[in-house]
Amino acid sequence: MECLFCRIVAGEIPATIVRETDNTLAFRDIGPKAPVHVLVIPKEHYADVATLAQGDPALAGEVLATAAAVAEDEGLLGDGFRLMFNTGAYGGQEVYHVHAHLLGGAPLGPMLARDLG
Ligand code: 5GP
Ligand code: ZN
Repeated sequence: MECLFCRIVAGEIPATIVRETDNTLAFRDIGPKAPVHVLVIPKEHYADVATLAQGDPALAGEVLATAAAVAEDEGLLGDGFRLMFNTGAYGGQEVYHVHAHLLGGAPLGPMLARDLG
């Protein structure tokens, strides 16, 4: 199996799992960019959020629901958080198994490092 996150789902690579449902998994990012940085994925392999949303919108909804549950568990609902799907080359995606980045625990700054507008 080539895909890193499929290997995490299979238990072949260790991860700090914070929530698991029948169809989704949430685990801490190995290189956290904020006090809370959790990745939320569908267990089934989809390359990116567009492929997931077009192929199985209900599963995309489950990923969002799991992200919201983790946000609540981590105490992020009051102060807020950011939920992000880096997609493709311009989006800076590095792992091609769709994942939502759940970021919070501190003010996260501007949406982009530079204003490209
Ligand atoms: P992307 O750039 O594809 O949106 O994000 C990939 C994320 O996966 C990065 O934030 C990176 O730190 C994280 N990551 C890469 N390899 C591993 C790993 O083996 N375990 C965990 N938990 N996170 C990983
Ligand atoms: Zn995969």
